[in-house]
Amino acid sequence: MALVVQKYGGTSVGTTDKIRNVAKRVARTYDEGNDVIVIVSAMSGETNKLVALAEEMCEFPSEREYDVLVSTGEQVTIALLSMCLQSMGYKAKSYLGHQIPINTDNASSRARIQNIGEDNIREDLKSGNIVVVAGFQGVDDQGNITTLGRGGSDTSAVAVAAGLSADVCEIYTDVDGVYTTDPRIVADARKIDKISYEEMLEMASLGAKVLQIRSVEFAKKYDVVIHVRSSFNDNPGTLVMKEDAEMETVLVSGVTCNKDEAKISVMRIPDHPGIAADIFSPLTAANITIDMIIQNVSKEGFTDITFTVPKGDLKKALKIVEDTATTIGADEVSSDDKVAKVSIIGVGMRSHSGIASKMFSTLSAEGINIQMISTSEIKVSCVIEDKYTELAVRVLHAAFDLGNGQ
Ligand code: ADP
Ligand code: ASP
Ligand code: MG
Repeated sequence: MALVVQKYGGTSVGTTDKIRNVAKRVARTYDEGNDVIVIVSAMSGETNKLVALAEEMCEFPSEREYDVLVSTGEQVTIALLSMCLQSMGYKAKSYLGHQIPINTDNASSRARIQNIGEDNIREDLKSGNIVVVAGFQGVDDQGNITTLGRGGSDTSAVAVAAGLSADVCEIYTDVDGVYTTDPRIVADARKIDKISYEEMLEMASLGAKVLQIRSVEFAKKYDVVIHVRSSFNDNPGTLVMKEDAEMETVLVSGVTCNKDEAKISVMRIPDHPGIAADIFSPLTAANITIDMIIQNVSKEGFTDITFTVPKGDLKKALKIVEDTATTIGADEVSSDDKVAKVSIIGVGMRSHSGIASKMFSTLSAEGINIQMISTSEIKVSCVIEDKYTELAVRVLHAAFDLGNGQ
């Protein structure tokens, strides 16, 4: 007997018929003699609707109430799935985050899981229950409901698998696994059989939304092997696991894109020690994550800084940066939200040169201008005009021979 954790994403529980399909799969795993914990997301589109409602209500909703609202989608699906399992003759029990409890810090809308209470789950499993847990949510030390950031049910699943030392952690979604790029952009994309935590971390943080970044961080930290697979068939999916020798032979494993960032430029800043801290500290204090940063070489005592922030934070960030610019005597602040970031990722890059220049020449052959560049040991990212995103992904995917060759 194994302890199996299965997570079903929004598209897998998007209708009552789909929930019936999930119930059958869960029941099959249980009938094979396993203990089963199921984590579910809200029905597809529901969380977006809740976010839109909050925005309709006021410009800057209270963070506490925002989490109370957006966490409700998962309450619907845990109840529906449990009802369905019970109607099929199984013992099932649903849990909200605070009932487990899934304890988090108090960073509303981006909370981090700190620990998971095991007792309730263990007791239910022992008495033959299938345990159904609401993904995406937890509770802080004051008893407030928190949420884990968009796509957070993946993290709930991996955290539960780690916390209860599960034997198997399966993330069921609407594609067969992790592909060399988003299969909705490139039909020729190839499913990857196994991928290292490091590459998956980069893919997730650079736009492949198939797994939330934190779920991969968690899996890496606690050595959880994640099996990403489809809820609509029985095909083997992708194993996200420790790097092995075979993985290093692949130069580039994947291409990603991200249209969720916007660019801010601060021009003609009087250049002296401390200006970067002056600009970025207030943004950090406001919980705004900065991604790429470029500072130009100083000329006649002045410099320019350009950086990217999540699009959703652009309004808030601009207001802060404009205030700072006035204080430090910078000339002008401008922004552009019509940008996208395309990236190539691969652990094989560590031992090979020429990958970045091949990326640049591939983009330039299509007349795509590169606005910003950032690199790490295993990735190269370029910010480009967003209208070229899909084209850039397709040409890079082809240039690095990632397709099925169909
Ligand atoms: P779920 O609702 O199951 O959590 P998501 O929509 O969050 O599913 O993630 C699955 C989607 O991720 C796929 O439908 C696919 O379009 C997208 N995706 C983006 N990049 C990749 C990739 N490299 N491999 C697989 N899927 C990807
Ligand atoms: N329902 C949440 C979202 O849409 C969490 C998840 O799907 O993982 O972001
Ligand atoms: Mg998801």
